[in-house]
Amino acid sequence: MWTDTHCHLDAAEFDADRDAVIARARAAGVMQIVLPAVSRENFDAVRQLAHVHGFAYALGIHPMCVDRAREDDLPALREALAAHRGDARLVAVGEIGLDHFVPGLDLARQALFYAAQLKLAREFDLPVILHVRKSADTLLKHLRATPVRGGIAHAFNGSEQQAQAFIGLGFKLGFGGAMTYPRALQIRRLAAALPLDAIVLETDAPDIPPQWLYRSAEDRASGHGQSGRNEPGELPRIAQTLAALRGLPLDVLADATSTNARAALPGLAVLPMHAGAAP
Ligand SMILES: [Zn+2]
Repeated sequence: MWTDTHCHLDAAEFDADRDAVIARARAAGVMQIVLPAVSRENFDAVRQLAHVHGFAYALGIHPMCVDRAREDDLPALREALAAHRGDARLVAVGEIGLDHFVPGLDLARQALFYAAQLKLAREFDLPVILHVRKSADTLLKHLRATPVRGGIAHAFNGSEQQAQAFIGLGFKLGFGGAMTYPRALQIRRLAAALPLDAIVLETDAPDIPPQWLYRSAEDRASGHGQSGRNEPGELPRIAQTLAALRGLPLDVLADATSTNARAALPGLAVLPMHAGAAP
């Protein structure tokens, strides 16, 4: 049984066939999925999806959504965390963090929202799900100033030293579709070499398609496969890359990474696998 620790199931890309996507994930053995929010506008959507389908969710404001967030979105997040603090399916504050890769984002505003959300994670004693893109050292500096109870550095693509620093602060590192590309040498090196208990699996669906779903802009323009959409049912096949890199049987990897997910997000450990409505 697999755990997808990061999936945007509420994304519009799934509007046409969300139930089929979920059914395929379950059929593939993906029994738990964590749905991070990205902005105030989707707090209700991730919570409702988690409840209807028996998954887990996180509430937070994504660094790439900060520019269009309003000043009162932080108090609104605090209110939502307070309103649902007794909800067993709320397992983290996320997705929060810093994006120093995409040009044109307001870095000072990102830092302000990130720091404020770390404080909320402390206040509500929740782990965090971090977006890390060319920003690991700054994220770590904030974490040292405002320690939280760990969490996940998602889609990790930093150095070994940065990985060890996150691990030292109680974090697991999320690996997914990016490691299926043979040219992703640094990610594959880390996935092979880090302690197994530091690794969790994720799809980040509908984003980060694995190699076999990737379509270049030229492919899409010429009508050869219109979508590079990723989905949670791809997780076991993505995991085959990690199993091969580490020389581990798939079932051992499924158990270990699901155990790691429960260690990173302790709320997962007490969740029933699915709600009444789910198959
Ligand atoms: Zn994400």
